[in-house]
Amino acid sequence: MTTWRRSWLMCACFSLVCMPALGWFYPEWKSGIEWPMPPIIQPGDATTAPSDAIVLFDGTNLDAWEGGEKWTIENGYAIDRGNIKTKEKFGDCQIHLEFASPEEVKGKGQGRGNSGLYLMGRYELQILDSYDNETYYDGQCGAIYKQHPPLVNACRGPGEWQTYDVIFTGPRFNEDGSLKSPGHITALHNGVLIQNHSELLGSTKWDEPPKYNAHPERDSISIQFHGNPVKFRNIWIRDLMPAEEMPGENEGPLDSPAATDGESSTSQSDAK
Ligand code: MG
Repeated sequence: MTTWRRSWLMCACFSLVCMPALGWFYPEWKSGIEWPMPPIIQPGDATTAPSDAIVLFDGTNLDAWEGGEKWTIENGYAIDRGNIKTKEKFGDCQIHLEFASPEEVKGKGQGRGNSGLYLMGRYELQILDSYDNETYYDGQCGAIYKQHPPLVNACRGPGEWQTYDVIFTGPRFNEDGSLKSPGHITALHNGVLIQNHSELLGSTKWDEPPKYNAHPERDSISIQFHGNPVKFRNIWIRDLMPAEEMPGENEGPLDSPAATDGESSTSQSDAK
């Protein structure tokens, strides 16, 4: 092969192999959407909240909660002595909390280390001592009560601190009160995925099948008291509600839950 032909061949090979990789033949695709810059925050660590979170309990007081005076606070944690609910109301959100079942094991099944995280006061992510403690699967720790068992049982033993990290999307309702879109819960228990965008079928009652009743797009977060002194610490929340959906100060999109279904946190005595 002549030198000229060898050079031409090398040039052709370079063009075929390298030029596409360099984007000369295939220009980069861009969406064209001008996204706003994601806010810069300071992430937390095992004990502190991210800088954009609302701290609901930092180990010192329960001022953010109605009913918090019933609880006992000591050594940076609080002991469940009665139903509590946040004074502020939330819709879509991310929640972190830490809990510990009583060290002294008493009772069994639903009677052992029972509490619950209630999104919007009506959708329970079960808190239970499910370490070597059998109960119905859709009622064990990490279950969306009587709707979805957890994907795995990631419980630590009685007295050990455990974490919940929850992403909640609330349901939406049409003006006539019919369901527009269901709620969803994603949850990690001790860092392990236990609910993966699980669809809420309605409120989580002990004595009724799940059913949706229209309610405002924001309501209190509640923690259940089920007779067991479960400990809590490091509770914080990040508001994920889309700005355009935030209702005005006196503007509830629909009737209050008390007026429609009575399923707000006041009804937790029925729940497990
Ligand atoms: Mg419960």
